[in-house]
Amino acid sequence: MLKGKTALVTGSTSGIGLGIAQSLAAQGANVLLNGFGEVDTAKAQVAAAGQAHGITVDYHDADMSKPQEIEAMMAFAAQRFGHIDILVNNAGIQHVAAIQDFPTAKWDAILAINLSSAFHTSRLALPAMQKANWGRIINVASVHGLVGSAQKSAYVAAKHGIVGLTKVTALENATTGVTCNAICPGWVLTPLVQKQVDDKAQALGISVEAATEKLLGEKEPSMQFTTPEELGALAIFLCSPAANNVRGVAWNMDGGWAAQ
Ligand code: NAD
Repeated sequence: MLKGKTALVTGSTSGIGLGIAQSLAAQGANVLLNGFGEVDTAKAQVAAAGQAHGITVDYHDADMSKPQEIEAMMAFAAQRFGHIDILVNNAGIQHVAAIQDFPTAKWDAILAINLSSAFHTSRLALPAMQKANWGRIINVASVHGLVGSAQKSAYVAAKHGIVGLTKVTALENATTGVTCNAICPGWVLTPLVQKQVDDKAQALGISVEAATEKLLGEKEPSMQFTTPEELGALAIFLCSPAANNVRGVAWNMDGGWAAQ
């Protein structure tokens, strides 16, 4: 379905971004990966997912907290692939602390990576999408773009912000073939959440299994993690012709979290 298209997925060396990149590759899209850590493994996994379509997979190491590096990545993408058709703003970090104890550097980093980076990639990707009259911007927000949780001030502020950015991006392009939507996962068992489980186990002196049950039980009525594969399937739907008129939504996949 996406053969001939090129997707940039920020923060795609791990977790949800890697899952979405694999799903896009399996539909035939070329993929530009970004993020830190296990780059070669991620590249191999995404290439394997798109092998049947002979896709091209490449990588750029831009730090999404740095606008100049984002500009360099977008210039690289244009030179390597022509232009980006599908932009998935996914890179994100978390820090958990009460407001009065929240390190200001962490606040700045979370706002930069989880919110401002999406503004920078979007402003740089939109002109070519508008010219082609086709484009998909998918912002990986969170159920924390819709509701709050204590101890997560920067994350909740950034995620509510990206839901707002999603609506404005959708409205500014509403009469074109460029759509913008947000995906709002509940708990997904990635390294970002595993750290919160491990911290909970340590703080309460309980096993990791008990901490996992507690984490799900506090927020997610289904008592199940959403998977990167399920989020990838939602991203594919948003890229499909059936989603041509889905614009500016914040679509939660959260096991009933926000329904409470
Ligand atoms: P993860 O830690 O597995 O992956 C984060 C990715 O972002 C990695 O590839 C990492 O290298 C990259 N990254 C981090 N800082 C970066 C930077 N400065 N520049 C470039 N890349 C950077 O986490 P995840 O759970 O897969 O999270 C992905 C997105 O999904 C985030 O935006 C997160 O807020 C969101 N989300 C996660 C959950 C969850 O339960 N895991 C729920 C809702 C939303």
